[in-house]
Amino acid sequence: MASQPLVIVLMGPPGAGKGTQAKRLAKELGIPHVATGDLFREHIKKGTPLGRLAQGYMERGELVPDDVTIAMVIDRLSQPDCARGALLDGFPRTLPQAKALDERLAELGWCIHVVPNIQVREDVLLRRLSGRWICRNCGAVYHIEFRPPARPGVCDVCGGPLYQRPDDRPETARQRLRVYFEQTAPVLAYYQRQGLLVEIDGEQSIEDVHDALVKAVRLLPEE
Ligand code: ADP
Ligand code: ADP
Ligand code: ZN
Repeated sequence: MASQPLVIVLMGPPGAGKGTQAKRLAKELGIPHVATGDLFREHIKKGTPLGRLAQGYMERGELVPDDVTIAMVIDRLSQPDCARGALLDGFPRTLPQAKALDERLAELGWCIHVVPNIQVREDVLLRRLSGRWICRNCGAVYHIEFRPPARPGVCDVCGGPLYQRPDDRPETARQRLRVYFEQTAPVLAYYQRQGLLVEIDGEQSIEDVHDALVKAVRLLPEE
């Protein structure tokens, strides 16, 4: 069955739960989870020139420049595993990125299916970021209070060690939220005008947010 590739853009501020939700939803939809933050962290780990460039911006809680970010995503979308689409997480975050994505999708003859926007109040976001722990080995996401691992510091999925992201420290987290509300608000308006935006209440349980996303995507059978 040759169906149209599926492109979903998951929006929401830092700490909204994008990564947590995207990992599961992408698996269920059979498309790769493409997270720009994860791609940059891979580059930093490997010590590539792009990683060296991105690191300073990320440490300061600023956005990495559009040109290199756009090039990285376009390259990722050209990989064979994206032939059936992708679940984008953390991209686009600026209007030029959104427009570049549209251009690339138009070249491919693809379009965006839906843009769920996970909304969470700022004080809740800061609590989520300050308690976030991530598996260094498999990327599973935990929270010290809201989603604790069975054994402290150890991943339930793979047994790998958990770490806290340096940019989740309160000062940097606040800066990231500022940047988000300044630079990413126009992207939400842009998708709203196209009728693609669906608001999701991100303050529900992880399970209920998942169910709301499934409803928004309208491709999986609801339970
Ligand atoms: P979160 O999931 O908490 O929102 P991410 O992992 O998506 O954080 O992003 C971490 C950092 O990576 C950002 O603060 C920014 O420096 C960089 N980054 C991620 N996505 C983009 C993007 N689309 N444009 C520019 N910089 C980005
Ligand atoms: P994002 O990718 O949007 O930055 P994450 O998925 O990494 O967000 O989630 C941020 C933190 O909040 C993590 O520690 C995660 O375990 C926790 N979290 C995610 N969704 C919820 C939820 N619905 N309720 C409580 N905590 C959550
Ligand atoms: Zn793990």
